[in-house]
Amino acid sequence: MQIIMMGAPGAGKGTQAAKIATKYEIPQISTGDMFRSAVAEGTELGKQAKEYMSAGKLVPDEVTIGIVRERLAKSDCEKGFILDGFPRTVEQADALGKILSDLGKEISAVINIDVPLSDLIERGVGRRICKSCGATYHIKFNAPVKENVCDACGGELYQRADDTAETMTKRLSVYEASTRPLIDYYKNAGVYVEIDGRQSISAVTEALNKVLLSVEG
Ligand code: ADP
Ligand code: AMP
Repeated sequence: MQIIMMGAPGAGKGTQAAKIATKYEIPQISTGDMFRSAVAEGTELGKQAKEYMSAGKLVPDEVTIGIVRERLAKSDCEKGFILDGFPRTVEQADALGKILSDLGKEISAVINIDVPLSDLIERGVGRRICKSCGATYHIKFNAPVKENVCDACGGELYQRADDTAETMTKRLSVYEASTRPLIDYYKNAGVYVEIDGRQSISAVTEALNKVLLSVEG
């Protein structure tokens, strides 16, 4: 099963992709997470990505496509994967099509979590991530039992440097200009499904599970 999770920054892609990855035992491939790890490790990729990320811009296509090509060739992707945050431009979508055809695979579904722009800044600014296991929380919509402590592993929670109102605003305008056109791109390819992302996290999960049942069957 090859799933693409689409949606604006803060729509809930990562939250839902993590659940699908666990349920179907397939890797969650988040380009944002890959870049954040590279920045934390201070690698060459991290140095390249950092300035774009902190400005709320997209990392250049050739860099991003290169890391996804390498990742999808790994053996844990053989029985499927869920892409979270890639593709984000038409050029990336074209490249993904080529990578998949080289691997003899097809896209099973592109699932767009649709959330009005007016809700997204609050989602982004309230997001908190566990330093140890990467679990995602929200100070209002998905708060941990104990403030700043991960329910799953007891790790400390942090706020991403790009989750400020200012950078979220920039990221949302980049989304409108570069990523929203992919909705029509995948509608035309006949693999597009939309889910109402204004619902609670568990209601979105339920809707997603229904979609995936039909994809599987
Ligand atoms: P994305 O990966 O699309 O940027 P995340 O999954 O990290 O988004 O979610 C962004 C923030 O919104 C997180 O703090 C998350 O806990 C919260 N969130 C996710 N889904 C919902 C939802 N359906 N309702 C309310 N808050 C949500
Ligand atoms: P995310 O974790 O998906 O919110 O991504 C965080 C940041 O990483 C983005 O604002 C971009 O700077 C960068 N990034 C993640 N995925 C991509 C992508 N597919 N193309 C370009 N830049 C990306």
